[in-house]
Amino acid sequence: MKITFIAHSGVFIEFEKCCILIDYYRGEVPSIPEGKKLFVMASHGHGDHFNPAVMKKFGGDREYILSEDIKSRIGVKDRESLKITFVRAGEEYTFSDGNGGELILRTLFSTDEGVAFLIKCEGKTVYHAGDLNLWIWEDNEAQYDRWMRETYSAEIGKLKGEKIDLAFLPLDGRMGKRGFCGIEEFVKINRVEKICPIHLFTGFDFIDKFLNDSASIGCREKILRVDREDYKFEI
Ligand SMILES: [Zn+2]
Repeated sequence: MKITFIAHSGVFIEFEKCCILIDYYRGEVPSIPEGKKLFVMASHGHGDHFNPAVMKKFGGDREYILSEDIKSRIGVKDRESLKITFVRAGEEYTFSDGNGGELILRTLFSTDEGVAFLIKCEGKTVYHAGDLNLWIWEDNEAQYDRWMRETYSAEIGKLKGEKIDLAFLPLDGRMGKRGFCGIEEFVKINRVEKICPIHLFTGFDFIDKFLNDSASIGCREKILRVDREDYKFEI
């Protein structure tokens, strides 16, 4: 599969038979090859994960998979004329890829808003966290901190047993080194081959900081050193 890290948490995945755009809100979307269906997914409605303009942006065969919290933001006209599935956490959905195959989607509960996505398509398994992360802010109250840690571990623990080829995981420098914890915990619990950091508000330098300073064993070689927007790679 061909992947483009577009910007922030926005990514584009091109499979043999279909394409998926996830959490797009700005930047250059690669062109969609003739005959391939486009899935447009949004994990929740925050402005850095969903831009209502995507509802108008693409022609051809496209299908929207949107977290339920976005429902109220979609006008009646779009709801009636477009192919939209509103998804909730803890469910499994099957979609046609438009070319005789299937896309299977599992959703997890997010510790912030909406859902996270586990996508199975053409023998590959891809995870996109959305805002499901260990949000350990400096001023968190102890009780909230405990809830955060327990909920995060329990949610990502539901993926145990999956062999994840690629995971898009938040690496948010606004939390300082506490921002490492979400990825470190994910790798401790799950089998994942490659990690593409997302949610990089403070820039790409934070990936280097992670690579230099994380004490986690087994994380480093999995991390893709994304250094710009519109970053392309293949898996
Ligand atoms: Zn976010």
